Amino acid sequence: MPCQSSDELKALVKEARPYTKNGKVADYIPALGKENPNDLSVAIYYPDGQCISAGEIDKKFTLQSVSKVISLALVLMDRGQGYVFERVGMEPTGDPFNSIIKLETAAPGKPLNPMINAGALVVTHMIKGNSVQERFQRLLSFIQEMTNDPTVTYSEEVARSEFETAYLNRALCYFMKQYNFINEDVELLMDLYTKQCAIEMNCLDLSRIGMVFAMDGLDPLSGKQIMPIDVARICKTFMVTCGMYNASGEFAIKIGLPAKSGVSGGIMGTVSGRFGIGIFGPALDEKGNSIGGMKLLELLSKKYGLSLF
Ligand code: GLN
Repeated sequence: MPCQSSDELKALVKEARPYTKNGKVADYIPALGKENPNDLSVAIYYPDGQCISAGEIDKKFTLQSVSKVISLALVLMDRGQGYVFERVGMEPTGDPFNSIIKLETAAPGKPLNPMINAGALVVTHMIKGNSVQERFQRLLSFIQEMTNDPTVTYSEEVARSEFETAYLNRALCYFMKQYNFINEDVELLMDLYTKQCAIEMNCLDLSRIGMVFAMDGLDPLSGKQIMPIDVARICKTFMVTCGMYNASGEFAIKIGLPAKSGVSGGIMGTVSGRFGIGIFGPALDEKGNSIGGMKLLELLSKKYGLSLF
């Protein structure tokens, strides 16, 4: 069903868009550097299938770190909580998403949470399957189920661009391999991880995923429980405590919702029991969160009283 354009959302996008001027598009993954920094779009997806939107709604973007919460859900289903949390922790770091420091100073080699790169790499390592191809396909099918869109796929260009330049992520992998938290070929893991990060969609698809998390893993339109309630609950808790990296505390105060951002400028938000939010605004603040997207969420949260707290 196409999204209805909404005047109320348009007004909020108009108010938030000037903030994009203060941000910068990520270019450490060269293919992401081509985005238009002024873009800002939002979709809200309700459990009855209604959808409202504003902005450049047809633009596709890659999930990047938004994928971390989805791979976590899959791995919790694949392996169970006991296995997963022996290998990745539950605590925020207060450090940038790509930092290596706590791998040495906290439990050696064990990443503190699944929302930072080190933790997400261990999570991706745990996706079950006999080959990179099979593991990727399982993750993609899971995402296609949540978006109800079997055409969702990944951007080969973005995946390749990150694969060719991901020296820091390789360093994180080798550090963790030394401590046996990773025990596969790092190049194979980087192949899988960069494809995962390059899964591509528009705001509408992303808001539908947010809606499934908001409904505790149930797709009310198909009647299918896509993930167990407990898995959705754990994912949403991580989104609150670590979803916006080292801006999660400020985000909890200003917005107060489970949300996950990515360096493409995507943000997935969930309002439990009510709706999912998909945002795209590629201009980022210094911590790697969409600057216009954060402002837009702040305006939305204030206007509709969405904060959990
Ligand atoms: N693919 C990106 C990386 O590993 C994801 C990071 C992000 O979105 N914060 O660097």
